Order: sequence, then C-alpha cells, then structure tokens
Amino acid sequence: MTSATTYYQTNIDTDITYLKGVGPQRGRALKQFGIENTGQLLYHFPRRYLDRTNIKKINQVKIGEEAVLIGKVESFGLKQAGRRRFFQLNMDDSYGYLSCVWFNGISWISDKFQIGDNIAVFGKIEFRNGFQIIHPEFDILEEGEDPVNTGKILPQYASTAGLKSVGLDSRGFRKIINIALELVSSQIIDYFTPPFREEEELYSLMDALLQIHNPTDAHHLQSAVYRLKYDEHFFLQLLMALKKMKRDDQRGRVFSKRGEYEKLIFDQLDFSLTSAQIQVLKDIRNDLGSTTPMNRLIQGDVGSGKTIVAILAAAIVVSHGSQVAVMAPTEILAEQHFKSFELFCKPAEMKIALLTGNLKKGEREEIYNGLQNGHIQMVVGTHALIQEGVSFQDLGMIIVDEQHRFGVEQRKALIDKGYSPEVLALTATPIPRTLAFTIHGDMQISIIDELPKNRLPVITKVVEPSRMEKVYDFMRKEMDAGRQCFVIFPIIEESETRDWKAADTGFKHLSTSVFQNYQLGYIHGKMKKEERDEQMAAMADNHIQCLVATTVVEVGIDIPNSTVMVIENAERFGLTQLHQLRGRIGRGSHQSYCILVKHGDSPESVHRLQVMESTTDGFKISDEDLKLRGPGEFFGKKQHGYIKSKIANFTEDGAIIRQTRKRAFDLVANDPNLQLERNQKIKEQFIENYRHMLEFVNIN
Ligand code: ADP
Ligand code: MG
Repeated sequence: MTSATTYYQTNIDTDITYLKGVGPQRGRALKQFGIENTGQLLYHFPRRYLDRTNIKKINQVKIGEEAVLIGKVESFGLKQAGRRRFFQLNMDDSYGYLSCVWFNGISWISDKFQIGDNIAVFGKIEFRNGFQIIHPEFDILEEGEDPVNTGKILPQYASTAGLKSVGLDSRGFRKIINIALELVSSQIIDYFTPPFREEEELYSLMDALLQIHNPTDAHHLQSAVYRLKYDEHFFLQLLMALKKMKRDDQRGRVFSKRGEYEKLIFDQLDFSLTSAQIQVLKDIRNDLGSTTPMNRLIQGDVGSGKTIVAILAAAIVVSHGSQVAVMAPTEILAEQHFKSFELFCKPAEMKIALLTGNLKKGEREEIYNGLQNGHIQMVVGTHALIQEGVSFQDLGMIIVDEQHRFGVEQRKALIDKGYSPEVLALTATPIPRTLAFTIHGDMQISIIDELPKNRLPVITKVVEPSRMEKVYDFMRKEMDAGRQCFVIFPIIEESETRDWKAADTGFKHLSTSVFQNYQLGYIHGKMKKEERDEQMAAMADNHIQCLVATTVVEVGIDIPNSTVMVIENAERFGLTQLHQLRGRIGRGSHQSYCILVKHGDSPESVHRLQVMESTTDGFKISDEDLKLRGPGEFFGKKQHGYIKSKIANFTEDGAIIRQTRKRAFDLVANDPNLQLERNQKIKEQFIENYRHMLEFVNIN
C-alpha cells in the first residue's frame, strides 16, 4: 500500500465508495440501491424538477391534486391518535398553512427538521382540519436554493430511507453528483460522432449529463432529456435492426403450394373468415413462399380468431412434408390449442400430439420417437417442447402463442430444433405501437382488428356490492333462457391480510342458497388437473349453468353459449387481466354482459373500471395499462431485463422511437456488421449494453 495521501484519479469506473464525498457508509447504501460506480451515479437522473412554474401556493391548491409547495417549518412533533403514533410537521408559505404527516419509520424523519427550515414538499393534497399531505416527498432547501426566489431549476432525486439516513436525500445527491461531474465529465466518451449529432440535432453526451443535473433553463433541460432518451431508444432499435439482419441473412425453405391439408380444413369450416383473417393469411403465404424464413407476429384481440389462421398456416407446412410445433405458455392453454387443432384438422387426418410436462415416461418416449421419425406431423405443447430430448425429423415451422410470455432464449431453443424454421407468433395482448416497435421490433406484424361477424360487443357495468341481489336476478334470467355464467374471484381461500372475496366461500354461498336450483361448477388453480378438466368439460357441454372460478379461467375456455361474467373485487385486477377475462364471454351470437363488482375505490382502480366500461378495444385498454403500469408489465419476465430504461417513456416517446428506429435501421443497412470506422464507438457501447444478446446478432 502506498501512503494515505495518495490521490486516486477518479473516472467513470471508479468504485462509488472512492468518490470524494461518499466513503464506506454511503458507498454501501448506494450499492444496495444499484449504483456501483461513478458513471452509474451520473445516470441517476432526477425524477422531478422544482422550478417556479410548477410550484403552487397553499391558497391555490385543490383537494385531491398533486402539488409541490415551498414554505418554512413552523412546528413539528410526535403525536398520537388512538393507538397510532405519527409525526406531524406544519409549514407556512405565507399564503396559508399545510400539515405533513408520516406514520411509519418515524425515527428517521423526526430529527430531520429545524424550525425555520425552508422546505419543498410534494404529494397529494388532502383535507383534515386544514390542508394536509400524508407521506410527502420532501427536500430541505439551502440558502440560495429556493427556486421561487432564485429562478433556478432544482433537480429532485429518487431516494430511499436507507439513503436518506446517510444524508443522501435530494440535496445530498446533488452534492455528490456535482462532484462526480466535475471530476469525470471531461472523460465522458460520446459514441455518436459530431456529424451524427449534427444530423440528429443532438447535444453531446457530456452536455446532456451536465444539463440534466444542472439545467440552465427549461429549454436546455428539454434538449438534455431528448439526447438521453434518444440514446436508450437508439440502442434498443439497433438491437432490433441487427437481430433482423441476422435472420434475413438466413435461407429458409420455400413452402409455395397451398397443399391438400389446407384445402381440406378450409373447405370444412362452418364459418367464413373475416377479411382481417384473410389478409393475415395472405401475408403468411407470402412469407412461406419466400426464401427468407418467416418471422411474423399476429396481434389480435381475444376471440378475433388467431387460432384458425395459425392452423391453416401450419397445414401448408405439413403438406410439404415438414413438421410444426406449437408452444403455449401454460398447460391449460396448450390443451385448449391441442383440442382446437385436433378438431379443425380432423378432415385432414393429420397426426397431432400433445406434449406437456406431466406425461408419463412411456407416453413421453412415444412422442419423442414420433417426432424423431416424422410420424407426428404437428405437436402442441408447453416448455416441455424445448427439453433436450426433443428432436424433430424436419421442423419446418414453429408457432409461439402469447409469445411475450417466453424469453428470447426459449424461443431460440425451439427455433434451433429446426433448420431456419418459419416463425409465427401470436399475441392477444394488444401492445401499443410504440412498444411493439421495441419488443417485437425485429418481426413483421399483422393485426387482426376485426371480430367475427356474429359477435356483439360485451356490455360492461360496474356495480356496488349492495346491488348483488339485482345481479343474481339477472343471472337467473339468463340461465333460464339457456345461457351460462361465470363468477370470478380474486383468491381461493379467505385470507387474514386481505379483505378479498374468496372463491371457496363464494361457491358455498352461491351453490347452497343464491342459485340452489341451478347446476354450479367450481374450478381453481390448486385443484387436480383431472377434476378441473372434468368441470371445464361439463361447462363446455352445457351441464353446468354457472361456473365459479379463480383466474384459471383466464385462458383455455371457449364457450360461445356463456353470456355473463361477474368479477368480484374487480378493482383488484389489472386492465389487461380484466380484458382477458372478459374475452371469455361474447364469443357467440348472444349479447353478453360483464359485471364488475367494486369493493374498493382508490382513484386508480375507479379509473381502471371506467376504462373497462367505456371500451372493448384491446388497443385502447393496453394503452391505458401502459400509462398506469409502465412497460415492465408487457415483457415476459425473461425479456424484461433487456430494456433498462432510466428515462425512456414508451407512451410519450413515439416521435423519438420512430426517429431512432429509422436511424438504426439505416445504419445497419449500410454497415451490417458495424465495421465502419465511424461506427466503432456505437458498436462498443452496443456490446456493453447487450453482451447477453450477442448470439442473436452478427457482430464481433
Ligand atoms: P383467439 O385465439 O384469437 O382468441 P380463437 O381463434 O380462439 O380466438 O377464436 C374464437 C372463436 O371464434 C373460436 O371458437 C373460433 O372457432 C371462432 N372463429 C374464428 N374465426 C371465426 C370467423 N371468421 N367467424 C366465426 N367464428 C370464428
Ligand atoms: Mg387463442
């Protein structure tokens, strides 16, 4: 060791502990928060800015709105209400008074303030003997920091109790980030060359980082945000462009004839295809007839008829002597598909197998053999399909249902069992366009935006629990007319921690009293598969008039005669899930009804239920879902990790996404393997970001 006076050169790789102003204690807290080195600290972007324009005066606020307020600390202390202790602080902004209240973790908060401190608080305004914010976000402002008087724009950083306890609140972050910027900003390498930046009208990376943490004014801030968003979207689109390039490079087989099988199935359909289905089928036939392997996603709402399109496509491939594998994310869904495939393919007498994880050894061996020797022409299954033991004689096409629920590696594992097979993916999660460019950016997309003609949109109503008698009357009427109903519960058994309606209790109540003269069924996720199958089959055969269920009914049931779905604690479900559930009714020619029983009324859940009432359009619903929950929910768990978004916003950044997509695809068209000198830094950064994806692209 050298002497203690050694000065370390700080650079972006420097362990965060050794940054001036950090030290072991803060270093530990920062690492726990995910900031390991100085460079990562610079990418801890402000979550909000205080500036003159967004600060309210206390006499201007409305109850229920979110507001930023700045004022002086008047008084504070611990209080008691019943058995609850809380910490209350009163502030005064010379227009009025506001109290701030904290219930938990009181110990860290109680020694934070001094009378007379100038503070900024943010939160939802409530009214209890005066204006109040519960658990506000707050900052203690230093002299000269008050944005109202100085005209400065003051960045606010996300923090945690652990970080705050070592002084890393917004102010603490501002200090160490500015130290870091001073020490390393001159070392920041821009992967975009000056000509590139000029063409795209981008700030340099250094300027963007300086301005995002210390904006001179709103205009500079906007340019900084644009540059940093541009970076995130650009590299994602570059990934898509490179993936597509690698696939387009491959030569696949040509399946040019329609073939006997497809004709036999098509001629036996007892309905005619919608024009949207026909268009998608044309797209697919074009893909199959070209040498580039198909890589197409069909997006279509629940009930739009994706399955039959997939079956007809599969039949073309089988007619050419190749095999088809259909992979679904759950056993129930795999079984449902297997049944549909068997049913529709009956006229063609194809050999179809179902491969799931719970087969007996002998059954499994038989399927393995059939796939290997080509006796089995189509196989439907779960993840069981990508087990090592599975090999095909000639896998010509894979169909992946609900493809966003699989990771890229899983999809690749199945693809690798063939020789550049055609890939057809299906999804009923209508993904907003901006996000689709990102998640499925390397695929061709076909949309089925039309429901079969015999369908009437489901009528949806939100009701209070007090109206259940009316709801039950209505259900009896429907059942008397020969229709069937679902009642969905959020959980199986009652729980002490959650005050939710439980299916067990619900079923007992409904079957012994409310509907004692009707045939009821019951399924839930913990039931044995055989029992569940039995109940589902009874429902499908119309032996059950009302099926009580948990969300296992979400996938796998297609019963056109069912017209009512009641969802208890509807406020507990996400929008996409409600939409999927509702998709189980309205599948036949009778008018269907979805009744959402609301047991709670947080503003967000009220909004969700209103969305459900106002539209049956899956795209609108998914747009709302994206706004409410962010993009994470749209990615399979495995895929999730590859969008490390700090600043990108997939709902609002449409223009940037289109711009970066164009730029990235142009770049790859001109320099497929990123070999040109001017693209070297981009390539290095790409490898840094997507080290785990390199097997999907052609660069090294
Ligand atoms: P998805 O998989 O898109 O949710 P399905 O393929 O399961 O929808 O189709 C829903 C139901 O509609 C099925 O019973 C299917 O046989 C039927 N169906 C499909 N296409 C049509 C059509 N063009 N006309 C009438 N019924 C159709
Ligand atoms: Mg389906």
